[in-house]
Amino acid sequence: MSEPLVIIGNGMAAARLVEELGRHALGRYAVLVVGAEPHLAYNRVLLSSVLAGEMTGAETELKPRSWWEAQGVTLVYGRRAVAIDRDRKEAVLEDGARLPYAKLVLATGSDPIRLSKPGMDLPGVVAFRDHQDVGAMLAAAGPATRAVVIGGGLLGIEAAWGLAATGTQVTLVHLMDRLMERQLDAEAAALLKAALETRGITVLLGADTAAVEGDGCVEALRLTDGRVLACDIVVSAVGIRPNALLAREAGLDNGRGVVVDDRLTTSDADIHAIGECAEHRGTCYGLVEPAYQQAATLARHLAGRPAAYEGTVLATNLKVSGVPVFSAGDFLGREGDEVVIWRDPGLGTYRKLVLRDGALAGAILFGETADAPWYLDLIRSGRPLDRLRDAVIFGPALAEAA
Ligand SMILES: Cc1cc2nc3c(=O)[nH]c(=O)nc-3n(C[C@H](O)[C@H](O)[C@H](O)COP(=O)(O)OP(=O)(O)OC[C@H]3O[C@@H](n4cnc5c(N)ncnc54)[C@H](O)[C@@H]3O)c2cc1C
Repeated sequence: MSEPLVIIGNGMAAARLVEELGRHALGRYAVLVVGAEPHLAYNRVLLSSVLAGEMTGAETELKPRSWWEAQGVTLVYGRRAVAIDRDRKEAVLEDGARLPYAKLVLATGSDPIRLSKPGMDLPGVVAFRDHQDVGAMLAAAGPATRAVVIGGGLLGIEAAWGLAATGTQVTLVHLMDRLMERQLDAEAAALLKAALETRGITVLLGADTAAVEGDGCVEALRLTDGRVLACDIVVSAVGIRPNALLAREAGLDNGRGVVVDDRLTTSDADIHAIGECAEHRGTCYGLVEPAYQQAATLARHLAGRPAAYEGTVLATNLKVSGVPVFSAGDFLGREGDEVVIWRDPGLGTYRKLVLRDGALAGAILFGETADAPWYLDLIRSGRPLDRLRDAVIFGPALAEAA
């Protein structure tokens, strides 16, 4: 008989795990997925495209209902799990229902961080995490609307770009002295800022939010330097926090996220965690690729096969149409590294490679990113550049011909 496997969270990691289980452990488990959002699992990455009007919400669905049925999965969505009873091996739902498990997987993702500043709970302050947030932004958006986006990371920039596409007057405020400081150096960040400004977005750097102000709803955002930005909507995109509450309350080992080993197993051998809620070797990831790699490893482990996840070298692509940006590995470099730069101000392109011990350690591509997969492969494999060295900055076509 199949053992009951309960997955809490119906996001991207959960959907991939079900797919991988079908490949590695078909029929071994009776899978049940519980999700708090009232939808089938969807591709969260595409929310930026929905906001920018490039696709509809329905098009983000990862798999149709018929696929889930064909996998034999029981779906319980629109209901939240509120506790894990480890003694009885049951997941407890908000309506009191109890779901017995032999194996439990936490795939609860992250929550947006809420700034602890006055006014952040006023109507008109939204995060950028799910369909509901995008719906709220689109409902408010339009040429008569003034929006302030807090946060100049990937999400904040995509929110600002998407809102600007609706004609909304957008100001992006960022605490740091450059945009996407965790993915870009100063030169690429300056190019990105210029591209956003061309789109009509006002970018304020070194700008710290003091408070959101308004009588019953958002009317302005005040900065600590005293400037007041009149606005109708505030989008808060200041980061995410792993959603590890259930695990913490169940007494599992926690750091920032749910601590797992290389088999994605928590401090309880029958409970696993994958995706953004998991903390592996001290790292909580905020991107989808690690979540997918963890799902593949866990499926193999649950199938009784040898499997180990050893971490992911991160790569970031900004999804802003017409402004291709890619960054991976150690793009700033350290003492002793060689840095190779190729810039073409006329074309608005910039390419930076960091070489260490004869291999590629990091890269930034701005304006033209077709070669990104090749550079990423060089970074991840760590293979010596050898004869590629002389022309590596020009991309695979020239470097490999040379
Ligand atoms: C606008 C946007 C753009 C992004 N762009 C990129 C990108 O370009 N590249 C990239 O790699 N990543 C991107 N990301 C991040 C990416 O979407 C996440 O890394 C990915 O979704 C993580 O998958 P997950 O399954 O861990 O979490 P999620 O997809 O967030 O799924 C977790 C699910 O669990 C549910 N849940 C939580 N607690 C409970 C509970 N107690 N009971 C039941 N259900 C619960 C949540 O409601 C949620 O549906 C983006 C994210 C956003 C918001």
